Amino acid sequence: MDFKQIFGRAPEAEAIAPGRVNLLGEHTDYNDGFVLPTAIPQCTKVQLGLSTDGQHHFYSKNLDERVSISDMLLTPSGFASYIFGCIQLLEREGYTIPSINLHVSSEVPIGSGLSSSAALEVATLRGLRSMLNLPIDDVRIAQIAQQAEIHYAGVQCGIMDQMASSLADTKHILFLDTRSLQTRVLPLPTGAEILVIDSGVPRTLAGSGYNQRRAECEEAARLLRVKALRDITDVSALEELPLPLRRRARHVVTEDNRVLEVLQGVSTQRFGELMNASHASLRDDYEVSVPALDTLVGLLQETPGVFGARLTGAGFGGASVALVASAEARAIAEAVLERYNRAGYLGQILVPSVS
Ligand code: ADP
Ligand code: MG
Repeated sequence: MDFKQIFGRAPEAEAIAPGRVNLLGEHTDYNDGFVLPTAIPQCTKVQLGLSTDGQHHFYSKNLDERVSISDMLLTPSGFASYIFGCIQLLEREGYTIPSINLHVSSEVPIGSGLSSSAALEVATLRGLRSMLNLPIDDVRIAQIAQQAEIHYAGVQCGIMDQMASSLADTKHILFLDTRSLQTRVLPLPTGAEILVIDSGVPRTLAGSGYNQRRAECEEAARLLRVKALRDITDVSALEELPLPLRRRARHVVTEDNRVLEVLQGVSTQRFGELMNASHASLRDDYEVSVPALDTLVGLLQETPGVFGARLTGAGFGGASVALVASAEARAIAEAVLERYNRAGYLGQILVPSVS
């Protein structure tokens, strides 16, 4: 149902924000390191208007779920927590937010690692900025969005997703230094486009595995007497670490170096090689891949027209990302999926979008 059907009148403002996929720089953001996300074509749209009964009302078209907030001291659960968090944080910044009706609809696959959560937060904040003329810039929006996800939705996340949704577009890659928040916009590699295929394997262990890797990285940094692994540039400095910390740290250090190599300017071919190397490092040193992702990425890597491929997101299931020759994504995906599904899995194309 649309805004008018739910709330009885037309919206006063609307805003959109895209999902994202990370091309290189995985598990580096909580190590103060470097990432290279890009926006995907699918967006989340938020429409808003003033509410007349003193309560906030949020409706998700995707979930066909409506939540009303009568008590601002109680954080709601589910999708409303992200929106509620954005409103609360804006009020903490000193802005007065009136009671609103908010309608959300999204093309970003929810829970597939393409960051529908950041798209929801950023679209909400953009919508409020537009309706209320708030003087907040895009970096501030990303920071508030991240705080909303951590403190209200209860997800310990880095800032990559929100920075990508707030600052990236589909024609460029966003280089982000997650320590300084310095950004640089790079062109997409020439003659290439992005292909994202979901492995069909849910990220069941992602939560516990992610927390364990985070703790291992913190321990490695502590043993090396640096603030974060980002401060190590040479793998020879890792010799003193015990296993498996040495391998965990080696992934982070080499991954940061791969991103920095791209920043210097590389050919499309080389970009692909760095993605392949990233996958091997995530599989062997960081140990966050699973057989399904290794199979999918392997099939992609051996297919003509593919420059490089790797798992993307936290791992333990979820999606793969590949850099493929322009205009060939769909044909490549179909060929790969036929073989992948024959191996007993059920993959699905997420980007380019089917609609
Ligand atoms: P991802 O960000 O990779 O899609 P997350 O688990 O971080 O996965 O975020 C998914 C959650 O974000 C959903 O469970 C829901 O609470 C919220 N969400 C995102 N988009 C929407 C939407 N369009 N409608 C309702 N909830 C949404
Ligand atoms: Mg998310």
